[in-house]
Parts: sequence; C-alpha cells; structure tokens
Amino acid sequence: MTTHIVGAGLAGLACAVALAGRGREIALYEAAPNAGGRCRSFFDPGLDRRIDNGSHLLLSANRAALDYLARIGAADTVTGPSEAAFPFVDLESGRRWTLRPNRGPLPWWVLAPSRRVPGSRPGDYLSGLALLSAAPGATVADCIAPAHPLYRSFWEPLTLAALNAEPAVAAAAPLRATLLETFARGGAFCRPLFTRDGLGASLIEPALSFLAGRDVRPAFGRRLRRLVLEGGRVAALDFSDGVETVEPGDKVVLALPAGGTGELLPDLPVPEDGHAIVNAHFRLDRPPALPEDLPFIGVIGGTAHWVFVRDDVVSVTVSGAGALAGQPAADLASLLWSDVTRALGLPVGPVPPVRVVKEKRATFIQTPANQHRRPPPATRWPNLFLAGDWTATGLPATIEGAIRSGFAAAAATGHRV
Ligand SMILES: Cc1cc2nc3c(=O)[nH]c(=O)nc-3n(C[C@H](O)[C@H](O)[C@H](O)COP(=O)(O)OP(=O)(O)OC[C@H]3O[C@@H](n4cnc5c(N)ncnc54)[C@H](O)[C@@H]3O)c2cc1C
Repeated sequence: MTTHIVGAGLAGLACAVALAGRGREIALYEAAPNAGGRCRSFFDPGLDRRIDNGSHLLLSANRAALDYLARIGAADTVTGPSEAAFPFVDLESGRRWTLRPNRGPLPWWVLAPSRRVPGSRPGDYLSGLALLSAAPGATVADCIAPAHPLYRSFWEPLTLAALNAEPAVAAAAPLRATLLETFARGGAFCRPLFTRDGLGASLIEPALSFLAGRDVRPAFGRRLRRLVLEGGRVAALDFSDGVETVEPGDKVVLALPAGGTGELLPDLPVPEDGHAIVNAHFRLDRPPALPEDLPFIGVIGGTAHWVFVRDDVVSVTVSGAGALAGQPAADLASLLWSDVTRALGLPVGPVPPVRVVKEKRATFIQTPANQHRRPPPATRWPNLFLAGDWTATGLPATIEGAIRSGFAAAAATGHRV
C-alpha cells in the first residue's frame, strides 16, 4: 500500500519524513524541478553565491521544526544566540536597541529599560493581553490601536514578520497562538535561529538524503492537474505526464499551496493566496561587522523590515510587500540599499551586485475571514488528506506551521509516525 504525497515543500517533506521507513511505500511528486517550494536555496550566477529565496527566521519555540531537523540529522545546521535578542534600528530617530526577553516565564525584562523598547514603559507591554481576549473576527489593530506607544516599534514589526500582513488586516488569532508559544513562555522560547549555510542545506537537502536512505525519491516535474474522484474516494492522480492509479488502501496527501488545492478541489473553501514578500540580496566586497551570533537587525521607519547578513551577502526582507512587488527590481534595489547602508552604518556608494526576489504568493492572506477557511488534514474523502502552511494549524503561515501540518497529515493517514 502506498501513500502518495503531492508537493515537496516543507509540508510534503515533513509528511514523507514522518512516514518513511515505517512499512508503507511513499510516492512523492513535485511539479518543480527541485524540492523546497517557498523555502529554498539556489545558485545566483550574478552574485556568484548560493542564496535563499528569502531569509527565514526560526524561533527556539518551533518544536516541530526542531524535531524535523533532528529526524533528518540536521539539528546542528541551525545557529543562534544563547539568549533571546532582537536588535533594532529606527531609521527616523537613529535610535538603536536590542529587545532582550529574560529566559523564564516571569517577564521581568519589561522592567529593565536596557531590555525593552526605548521610551516605552512596563505597563505598555500589557497591551498583549488584549490579543488574548480577541474576538474571533478581530484583527491585530482591533486589539492594539495604531496610537499605542508600542505599535510602531513592536506590534507592527512583529505582526508583519509573523503574519506577512499589516496589523489592520492581519488576524489576531494566529498572532495570539505565536505569542502563547513564545513570549508568554519566556525568552528561552524566543531565541532567534538561523540556518547556518542556507535553507537548502538545513531543511531540504538533508531531508532528501534521509528519504533517499529509505528508498523515497521525489518524482520531479510532475504537476498534478486533476484528482479523479470516484466512488467517494480518490481513484487516480492525473499528472501532466501520466496517470497514477490510487489502489484501495492507498492514501493521498495534497501538500500544495492553498490556491492550487482549491483548483483541484473546487468545492473546498480555501483561504485566498497572495501576500507578497520581497527580498534583495546584495554581495559586498567584505562581510559587514555584525555580531556572529546576531547576524540580523530589525528596521523601523524604512522600506526594509529586516536585514540579515551571511558572510559577504546582505539580505533584506520586506513583508506585506504587495505594492512594492510591482516596482522594477532596479528601483527596489536602490531603495533597499539606502536602508541597508543606514541600518549597518556602511558608506553610501553605488548599489553593489544584487538579486531581487519577489515572492508574490509568499503566504496566504492571513485575515480573520481566511482563518475560517483553513481545513483540517482529514477531508470528506476517506483516502484524501491535506497539508500546507495554510491548513488549520492555528499558527501563521510559517516553517513551523508547514512542518506541523505535514506531521498532522501523516498522523491523520492512520499510520504510525
Ligand atoms: C520570502 C519568504 C520568506 C519567508 N520567511 C519566513 C520566515 O522567516 N519564517 C518562517 O517560519 N516562514 C517564512 N516563510 C514561510 C515559509 O516559507 C512557508 O510557510 C513554507 O515554506 C510553506 O511550505 P508548504 O510546504 O506549506 O508550501 P510550499 O513551499 O508552497 O510547497 C508546495 C509545493 O507543492 C508544489 N506544487 C504546487 N502545485 C503542484 C501541483 N499541482 N502538482 C505537484 N506539485 C505542486 C510546489 O512546487 C511546492 O514545492 C517565508 C516565505 C517566503 C516566500
């Protein structure tokens, strides 16, 4: 009996990793020529460097992601500081600070001016309580008004980073879930983690090696065009290059983005896809000076949101970047380079070699309305299961959500994982 997994992004890979070597045949299909989906690395000839499609940050609370990394033997490929620390610069005021939540759950860090946002008061941090009691249809801005002293320097960057949307449109519920798993448990659960040599080297290639060791090899270039639904079950998978029969007892896991799943299952309500993230990767003459364990900085008051450094490549992330994604790459590069020079204190000079990556469908649109359109792994077809960062994980569309969804789909197939 075979479990057919369609999509070799993190959700599909996590599902395959959970099931491989446990007594079932696994068939993994992927439309693209490589695995990783929205979380991938590639060689850029212009920069002469291997870069990620976009910088990805993990947190020490991401238990499924850490479990996945341990299973595929890649736990030692992620690095980060020993304590939670988030450096920021405000390009308008020139102020710099580092948010440093203390390790334990009692948040005494808000009492220490050196650990909190400059100019904020301890009581300002109680604003998080409004998220805990948020109504199901509430946005983040319904709970924390734009006039709040921490809105611009804390809640807005946090919401954009976690939900890829402005607080005025982002649903409060998944941000609450993130806060409960991170800040509410203390700094030990908020340590930022980075992939040392890139997304591919940590999250994708070790998974492919793990799977190959269990005789699972993705079939690349196979795009699922149609599900053949007969007799109340999936009877066949109609790929661009041929049909695969789904035998009785076989299971099918669709680990595709929301939009693609909706096209294959038109009766299934799915969230709308389509919030963009723009990344620009600049190759410098020499690595800029940032602490080795904190190779990033949050940017307030600019176009850039986060700047990450890996050796001589500086990568800039802009979330919720719908309008920006329509601009020519050269214009974006000079706009973002100006922010980089100010954030890192570099001399302003000509824009160095750069690669701009526009992910127009980086995540689904994480509004309150779309939260109700996130399905669980089981469907009304007994042999069909769903995975993906957009399914009902309760979390934002993230690496952690994608991996958890893959594990959940694997468990829902009824097999030992
Ligand atoms: C620029 C960027 C920055 C991000 N930053 C962060 C971050 O800092 N932290 C974080 O946690 N998350 C971040 N994310 C989100 C994270 O990358 C995603 O949540 C995660 O990768 C989604 O994985 P997935 O498997 O659910 O979907 P996908 O990666 O989209 O995988 C779906 C796979 O299915 C394949 N496919 C599609 N249609 C078909 C078909 N018909 N037949 C066969 N195969 C098909 C696709 O090619 C793809 O490989 C970021 C995303 C982007 C784009």
